[in-house]
Amino acid sequence: MKPTVMIGAQWGDEGKGKLVDALAADYDVVARFNGGNNAGHTIMYQGEQCKLHVLPSGIFQKKILLIAQGAVFDPNVLLTELEFCKKHRLKLDLLIDYRVNLVMPYHKLMDGAHEAWKGKKATGSVGVGIGYCYEDRNNRSGIRCEDLLHPIILKEKIVMLLPLKMAILEKVYGIKTNLKVKTIVDDLLVAAKILGPYVGDVSLYVSDNVDKKKLLFEGAMGTMLDGQFGTYPYTVANNTIASSVFPSIGMPQVPLKVIGVVKAYTTRVGGGPFPTEQINADGDTLQTIGHEVAATSGRIRRCGWLDLPIIRFAHRLNRFDSLALTKLDVLSDFSKIPVCVGYRYGKKLFRQYPGNSHQYADCNPIYKVFEGWNKPLGGIKSWTALPKLAQEYIRFIENDIGVPIRFLSLGPQRDALIRL
Ligand code: GDP
Repeated sequence: MKPTVMIGAQWGDEGKGKLVDALAADYDVVARFNGGNNAGHTIMYQGEQCKLHVLPSGIFQKKILLIAQGAVFDPNVLLTELEFCKKHRLKLDLLIDYRVNLVMPYHKLMDGAHEAWKGKKATGSVGVGIGYCYEDRNNRSGIRCEDLLHPIILKEKIVMLLPLKMAILEKVYGIKTNLKVKTIVDDLLVAAKILGPYVGDVSLYVSDNVDKKKLLFEGAMGTMLDGQFGTYPYTVANNTIASSVFPSIGMPQVPLKVIGVVKAYTTRVGGGPFPTEQINADGDTLQTIGHEVAATSGRIRRCGWLDLPIIRFAHRLNRFDSLALTKLDVLSDFSKIPVCVGYRYGKKLFRQYPGNSHQYADCNPIYKVFEGWNKPLGGIKSWTALPKLAQEYIRFIENDIGVPIRFLSLGPQRDALIRL
């Protein structure tokens, strides 16, 4: 069985966590390979709404969990999730790669300071320091999980880095801090006691098991948030596309099965262009019925109609084998459902995201309007039980992208899923 990678096709929040939780039953291992605790997956478990920021979404199916090199996290956030597992008596079989970088207190301060500096051009970062953690990783100034196992080296690194970080905060951004080497090191050593036993070589584990175990790789962010190919600079600081799984895990380039997760409409959090955004009653209805509130920041998500050119672009970058269409139930209240099938840019027409993010900001959507089915979809368990007009909407997307829709999600619960 080929390893599977699950990738969001839009700006994140497509419902990847729910899908991973539901599909994990078919796998042995679930691995998180990118993003930080700025990501948030909401999963319904035993009737409770659970939010995960670091642990892979396979936790509720009691699978082997991996956090690979490409991810970063704040140790305190992971400690909270481990407490949650203890409270819910969830067995934890976890391996964290030596190379995973940790978010430090100064990363969070720099995140806030840099956003304030950018003013109106702020990226819309959730302010938990992830971009600055990646910046240090790439500058070879990161604190890695391996350092937790070597307290003397850990302290030497903090002693070397902290004065520089404090000087930047104070002299560039004008922020006085009372960060202390001792406090940072002591906190990390407390975390090390708990996390240390889980730290090891994920790259080796995956390479050894790629032909033996069923592997599911969980992308934390959407394609349009990719740090290079997304709507830069309103993106995350790492890669989110399927091929990034290889360097992010450190595994051989075996063929993958790629599942693209597509929300039946579009949302995004923070700044950046969004041509199909509906700043009107329709957008409000999508936001309210879809409960479109960001899992990490609690911010209201911006809402709009499905944008097929970005799904075509996501398919071009990820080469999806199949699609999972989520939140179709949210469209049940609309009598007309527009879908963007192209963009008008001056005299030019674009069928895909244009690649130039400045052009994208000035694109005007061309819509095809579908009749709504006006019936709730909750409880439907088969294709044939779906209203004909909902079937037409689904088939249109499938034919347009040229990729079969194999999973249809009609609610947040694990079993609100039709396999096609
Ligand atoms: P992720 O980051 O892609 O995992 O997505 P989030 O968890 O941030 O946001 C998706 C939200 O939609 C969560 O609150 C899910 O519980 C919810 N959800 C997932 N699938 C469905 C669905 O098919 N219908 C409805 N109504 N909600 C869903």
